[in-house]
Amino acid sequence: MSYFVNYCTECDWSASTQACTRSEQSGLAIAHHVATGHDIAGERRATEPSGTGQETGWATEWPPPSEDS
Ligand SMILES: [Zn+2]
Repeated sequence: MSYFVNYCTECDWSASTQACTRSEQSGLAIAHHVATGHDIAGERRATEPSGTGQETGWATEWPPPSEDS
C-alpha cells in the first residue's frame, strides 16, 4: 500500500493522502505556497507493512462531499 505526500522544502509543513484526499492535498499545498512563498515537493511513499493495527481503507472510497460554497 502506498500514499502520496506533499511536503514543503523550506519548513516542516506536509500533507498526506493518508489524512486527506488528493484534491484537498492539492488545495492545502497551494494555500501553503501562496501564504508563505515556500516551494512544495511531492513524492509517493510506501506504508510500512509492520501491522500497526491501523485500518486506512476509507480514503480511497471517500468521494469529496459536494458542498456548495
Ligand atoms: Zn513551508
